[in-house]
Amino acid sequence: MNMPENKTTIPENTWKCSNCGNTVVELQPPQVCPSCKQKCEFLNVTCYQPDCGFTGMDNRLKPSK
Ligand SMILES: [Zn+2]
Repeated sequence: MNMPENKTTIPENTWKCSNCGNTVVELQPPQVCPSCKQKCEFLNVTCYQPDCGFTGMDNRLKPSK
């Protein structure tokens, strides 16, 4: 396995399904949620701030119903 050290690609985003809360890490949000199989609205919860613990997801951002 070759692990690339230098990532020159565009960083992926973390998307949270507004229906079931499932998160997917993709460049673009999926058309259909892989978890609940619904055409949900995906919220970009990608976190680039250190104060959310480097989890890649900002827990302050919650999907609104
Ligand atoms: Zn979903």
